This record gives sequence, structure tokens and C-alpha cells, in this order.
Amino acid sequence: MFILKILVLFYLGASLGSFTNVLVDRGQKGKSLLGRSKCDFCGHPLSWLENIPIAGFFLVRGQCRSCQRKLSWQYPIVEFTLAVLFLGAGFWSGFMAEPASFFMAIKTSYYLFLCFLLLAIFVWDLKYMIIPDSLVAGGIVVVLIYAFWNYFHADCLLFDIHCSVASGILGGAIVSGFFYFLYFISKGKYIGGGDVKLGVLLGMIVGWQLAYLLLLFAYILGAIVAIYLLMAKKKNMRSQIPFGPFLIASTFIILFFSEKLLYWYKQLL
Ligand SMILES: [Zn+2]
Repeated sequence: MFILKILVLFYLGASLGSFTNVLVDRGQKGKSLLGRSKCDFCGHPLSWLENIPIAGFFLVRGQCRSCQRKLSWQYPIVEFTLAVLFLGAGFWSGFMAEPASFFMAIKTSYYLFLCFLLLAIFVWDLKYMIIPDSLVAGGIVVVLIYAFWNYFHADCLLFDIHCSVASGILGGAIVSGFFYFLYFISKGKYIGGGDVKLGVLLGMIVGWQLAYLLLLFAYILGAIVAIYLLMAKKKNMRSQIPFGPFLIASTFIILFFSEKLLYWYKQLL
């Protein structure tokens, strides 16, 4: 059963990873999400072999079978990443260890949704330097519904600071409020408007206790990568680096280690 769960999550993640690539690239160009995938260069429709997530890329040696041009590494990397995130979400929601139940199914689906949504925003911002409002808004709606679902199944008052609804709203206000302040004083130079909106979503996901850590980890990751890029001379001081991917990487760190971090946090207070 355990092996089966791993295989199902991995396959599901790799397949949805394939859809993530389609969503980002076609969404950016305003194209329909329906229809078969084609080679970016010659328009040759991809065969079933090339459409196999992860493995297809290697089976055709990373090149189009019609025009021989190199296919982007983005495809297998995103597919593999979502497969691994889905496995992580399976462990983290308790899906791997606990017996199946309706609550477990809801919780696991919510975590899988977050992995998919956050990876899509990550790739979109990294590649096109745009954070699509539609994905952020859709995410906020789902996170709110899940928070209310939790509220109705746990003993907490709506405005209890530890309750998922109030904690989420306060978390969203902390992260986006901080970004809005930076945006306001720098007239959009320090941070983009997209990050302010993304901050609402991510702050709501992690809740108010961990919202500060979300910011801290994102700035640490950003500093490490910026120093590397400057030293490797891939960027100069005037280059623009999207901040969304760091915020999302930080959110994943917090989500996967949230129980340990919260325990640690309570020890500090
Ligand atoms: Zn081609």
C-alpha cells in the first residue's frame, strides 16, 4: 500500500507538472489550454512517447523528433519537481502514514493543490517576471474555504488568533502589509505590485505565527542567490531578479517544517 501511494503521488505530480508547463507558457501567451502539445520551434505535434512526463524528454534525448532542435529543460525539471513536492505533501498531510478518511482526503487534496498552484506561480514569475492575478485570487479563495472548513471541524472561535481563519487573515495582512509599505516608500522600486498580492496568499497559507519567518527565509534565500549571481557575473547590480520564487521557496520550507517551527516558536515566547 505504501509503495502504491508513492507511485500514485509521483505519477500524479509528474502529470500535473506537465500541465503546469502548459498553463504557464500558454497562459502567458494568452493561448487556449486545450489542444495537443506542439514543438515550440516547428509546430510538430508531440507523440504519446514525447508526452510521457519526465521520461519522454529522455526517450527522445531532449530534442524534437521532427526538427531536432533542443527541447527546454523546463519540461522535465518542472514535472520532476511537482512529483517530489506531491510526495512531500503526502508525508506532510499524514496521507502516507494514516488510514484513509474523508478528512484525510480533504487535507491531502488541499496540500496537493497548494503544491501545484505555488509551483505554477514560481515558474511563471521566474520565466516571465509576472505573477498572474488569476492564480493568486483563485488560491486565496481556496485557502479561505479550507480555513473555514478547518474552523468548523476544530474547537476554535472565529476570531481566536490560533484559529486557521483569523490566523490566516492576520498572516496575509502581515506579509502584504510589509510589502505594501516597501512598495509605497520606494514607488515600486524595491518590490513589485504582484508581490504585494502574492504576500496576501502566502501569509494566509502559513498563518500569523510563521509569517515573519516566511519573510526572513525569503530574504535569506534571495541574498544567497543574489550574491551567487553577482559573483558568477550572471547579473549586475542593476539586474532585476523576481522575488516571487524566493517567497514561494520560503513558503514550502515553512509548510514542510511547520510543526517543528511552531514548536520552536512557542519555546521562544
Ligand atoms: Zn520541432
